[in-house]
Amino acid sequence: MVRALTGSSAGKAYRCPGCDQEIRPGTPHVVTWPAYARDSDLEPWDVESAADWRRHWHTTCWRSRDRRR
Ligand SMILES: [Zn+2]
Repeated sequence: MVRALTGSSAGKAYRCPGCDQEIRPGTPHVVTWPAYARDSDLEPWDVESAADWRRHWHTTCWRSRDRRR
């Protein structure tokens, strides 16, 4: 799952796993998490479990992630 954030509401900095740089507060970016729990393809995430797996990416890093590997 991918959701775009404008960053306007978040007053927190995140580390982007794509470039290992900080995403400054207020920077538009995307947040991603697995659509399904790893151990079971049948069970969708409940909200609290998904929070542990959320990752914040720069929008550009997310778009270019396939080229990095
Ligand atoms: Zn990045």
